[in-house]
Amino acid sequence: MASRNFSKFGKRFSRKNGITQLMSDLGNAKHSNNPNTIMLGGGNPAIISAANDKFISELEKLISSSSINQMIGFYDGPQGSEEFIAELVMMFNNHYGWGLDEKNIVITNGSQSSFFSLFNLYGGEMEDGTHKKILLPIVPEYIGYADQGISEEMFVSIKPEICMLNDKQFKYKIDFEELINVMSSDDIGAICISRPTNPTGNVISDDELNQLDLISKEYGVPLIIDNAYGQPFPGAVYTKATLKWNTNMILCMSLSKLGLPGLRTGIIIAEHETVEALSRISGIMVLAPSSVGPSLLTRMIRDNELLQLCDDVIRPYYKEKALTAVKLFESVFKDVDGYLHKLEGAFFMWLWFPNLSITSEQLYNNLKADDVFIVPGQDFFIGIDDDWDHKHQCIRINYAKDELVLKKGLEVIYNHVKSSQK
Ligand code: PLP
Repeated sequence: MASRNFSKFGKRFSRKNGITQLMSDLGNAKHSNNPNTIMLGGGNPAIISAANDKFISELEKLISSSSINQMIGFYDGPQGSEEFIAELVMMFNNHYGWGLDEKNIVITNGSQSSFFSLFNLYGGEMEDGTHKKILLPIVPEYIGYADQGISEEMFVSIKPEICMLNDKQFKYKIDFEELINVMSSDDIGAICISRPTNPTGNVISDDELNQLDLISKEYGVPLIIDNAYGQPFPGAVYTKATLKWNTNMILCMSLSKLGLPGLRTGIIIAEHETVEALSRISGIMVLAPSSVGPSLLTRMIRDNELLQLCDDVIRPYYKEKALTAVKLFESVFKDVDGYLHKLEGAFFMWLWFPNLSITSEQLYNNLKADDVFIVPGQDFFIGIDDDWDHKHQCIRINYAKDELVLKKGLEVIYNHVKSSQK
């Protein structure tokens, strides 16, 4: 049969792309039942049994109460569950003193869908015919943004400054001089950054955040902060970093990294006009966001049990895993030219091998042949030309694993890197 005649939108959104191919590789590996597979790819949170048990017991309580009817039998409004939003408003105001009201929060079907709406709200073709872009102040950045623009050329991005640290570590920092150049010369509709960053585990400092805040205000564009791994939930932050919100900021949160990715719940905090616009977009696209996440967590937020769980169980779990990851990096990679991005948040190790004679993509394929799955780094350098060597020298590892499995995987990676040094 002749191929279907898809629209421009259809073609853009159904074309093959590197990351979808990679994710299906990871999916196939996970379901292959090969006992030798070491899975260090993917962005799934760990199943932390103390947290998982708590969520399941909450679900059981919900099922035997009348609230279950609200969860499965009624649509929420397009802005999301009013009860859930009211509890969130109270919690954020009590904790951070932000002075939110119920018109400052909208619920979505996961933060991936939040970004789709936000990028296309602030970027793309404007009524006056101009074309606005979303500025990523630092790449590597979350790969999930890359293909979300309804129009072409949605993003402009900036290479980071690379600061070498002790103990074979490094940290990416924002090149503010270049950022100002881009703000002045390009048509920017919004700035967006993940904090903590997937894939690097970077947490931009309070000072960097404050500078971004000032610059975005000066140029009259919103600053979108992707807080999927940040405080208060799951709170996977291991450095001093203040959570900030003001009416020029759009703060995006998610229930996924708490251990609830299947519930598909995202939370956006923004000024009223943006919340209203996002609610209307939601109404058109999905009528109403899923009620499952809000129904499950409303009581736990009201009774302060969710924050307690993050403080007592989830954050310590990831912090411990981060310490183990650094310790293993230091022992396994001590005699190769390899560097670890300073691990300040999320649950990824970002490794840089400047002396590889092969690309990170070839390294990925070689490791795959040995049943070790990682994510090669090049696709995270959204909008950066292929001729920057650094783009082909990095890999991402999900370290929220059993220590022995992680050690074994790192040793296999070490052997491949050692034999592929220039
Ligand atoms: N933002 C970042 C930085 C992520 O890593 C992810 C998922 O891995 C998302 C957003 C999307 O998460 P979700 O749609 O599950 O809320």
